[in-house]
Amino acid sequence: MISDFDQMVADNFGKWCGKWTSKGRAFDGSETRYHRLHCKTWQCDYCAPRRAAAYAKAIAEAAEQHRLTRFVTLTLDPKKIGATAGHSCKYLRRCFNKFRVYLGRKFGHSIKYVAVLEFHKSGIAHLHLIVDEYIEWQWLKNAWEAVGGGSHVDIRARKDQHRIAKYLAKYLTKEFGLNGENKCPRGQRRVTCSRGITLLRRLGKHHTWRVLKQSIRWTFGRRCAVASNLEFDQFELIKAFVVKREDSRKLKPDSASYGSWVE
Ligand SMILES: [Zn+2]
Repeated sequence: MISDFDQMVADNFGKWCGKWTSKGRAFDGSETRYHRLHCKTWQCDYCAPRRAAAYAKAIAEAAEQHRLTRFVTLTLDPKKIGATAGHSCKYLRRCFNKFRVYLGRKFGHSIKYVAVLEFHKSGIAHLHLIVDEYIEWQWLKNAWEAVGGGSHVDIRARKDQHRIAKYLAKYLTKEFGLNGENKCPRGQRRVTCSRGITLLRRLGKHHTWRVLKQSIRWTFGRRCAVASNLEFDQFELIKAFVVKREDSRKLKPDSASYGSWVE
C-alpha cells in the first residue's frame, strides 16, 4: 500500500524527484550529510521554480561582479529553420557558438556573458543575454545574420545591473506556453554563461557524495536519534539532515537509541 508520505512525494515532485537520498561524507570525517535527491529539471513542478529562483539570485550576483550591463536579444528566423522547439534549440546553439567566435575576433578576447534560453509562442527558441561589452547594433545584426540567425537583434545598456539581471531572470520564471511544443526540451540547458563566471556552485565540495536508493524519510528513520540540522520543505517533509561524528559514535545498531521510526 502506498503511504501518505509516498503519495505526497508522488503528487508534488516529478517522476524521479525526491525518491532517493544523497549521502555526503566530509573529507575530514567530521560529519555525514543526507539530502533528498531532486531531479532538478525544468519539467518538474517542484524543481523548476526553485531552480529559477536560485538562478535569479546567481545571475544578479554575476551581473554585479562582472559588470554585465548590456542586454542583448538574439532571435531566429523561422524560415531558416522551420522546425520544432527541439530543433530550433540546437540550431540556436550552433549559431551562438559561431557568433562567439566572431565576437572573440572583434574584441580580441572572449566576452563575458550570461545567456537565458527562451521560447516564442510558436516554440522557436531565442536567447537573452547580458554581456560586459558594448556591441554596435549594426555589427551585431550583421554578425548574427552571418552565422545563420534572424534579422531581429537588440542591444540596450542598463546602468543598474540588478534590474538587468532581474529582467533576464524573469524569462526563467515565465510560463513557456500552452502546449508541449513550447516547453524546454529535455537536455537543453536554459542558462549558460562564459568561462570565468560561476552561477550555481555545487553544494558540499568538501564531501564525497553517493546515492542511496532509499527515501530520506527511511534514511532519517534509521538515524533520527543522532541526526541534527534537520531541514524541512513547505510540505513539512524532511529534506536534509546531518549526522556529526561525535553523535554517530552513539549510534550502535543493536542499541535502543538506534532509530525506531515506525513507517
Ligand atoms: Zn524535481
